[in-house]
Amino acid sequence: MQVGDRVACEPSWHCGACDMCLRGLENLCRNVIFPSFPDNPGAMAEYIAVPAFSLCRLPDSVSFTAGALAEPLGVGLHAVRLSGLEPGQDVAILGAGAIGVSILDVCLHFGAARTYVAEPMIDRQAYPRRLGATVKSSAAELEAIFEADASHPPIVFEASGGATAFSECLPLVRPAGCAAIVGIPEPDEQCYSARVPRRKELTVQFCRRSRNTLEECVRLLAEGELHAEQYPVREFSLDEAPQAMQAAMNYDGDMIRAIVRP
Ligand SMILES: [Zn+2]
Repeated sequence: MQVGDRVACEPSWHCGACDMCLRGLENLCRNVIFPSFPDNPGAMAEYIAVPAFSLCRLPDSVSFTAGALAEPLGVGLHAVRLSGLEPGQDVAILGAGAIGVSILDVCLHFGAARTYVAEPMIDRQAYPRRLGATVKSSAAELEAIFEADASHPPIVFEASGGATAFSECLPLVRPAGCAAIVGIPEPDEQCYSARVPRRKELTVQFCRRSRNTLEECVRLLAEGELHAEQYPVREFSLDEAPQAMQAAMNYDGDMIRAIVRP
């Protein structure tokens, strides 16, 4: 790493010494630091000191915007790895925000066959459609498609964090399949019918951020295998950071990420 290098940063800093780190499960570090969370303020700045291990040099072909999107892409890559996706398998994804879109992009890279997305916001339906997904407004509409010919996909990713998304994703999964829970459920306590996953012997795989994904994401971006350059994002200057936050909170238009460019 040289002074002046363009870099992407993994915004999750592990201690390297706890039992989870020593097992190679750095995302589950017991002493992890997330910069810019309330107890670690100050990351929204022109310069910030970060641990060297959290950085990855950006090749000239990867823009700063795509580099910033290596973080949600890493969440997508981690979830797809945990799901055990194999080439030729169908997948469904609930939610087409930055994480849902990242999961879709990674699934296509790994050879997913048919892809289905449930996203209620009309503006957010266009981009996954461009990637070839069948997009509906709700999980119930996807369920109707799958019920018609018993075509339930073996893997369903929950990436919306919606209030009822956890219970809604379980009926979509093929028996003996996997529900990968990536979204952070709100509210925290969730209700679901145990009968659904029990009778289908489902695996429910919770996913926590990302693990060892930054370098692979940057490499795949450089090779044109992932397409963050085309994601519907909007850029803001540092002075416009409050507007960027507001736009993100308002789910403005088709924007899946607000990028602040210092
Ligand atoms: Zn640790």
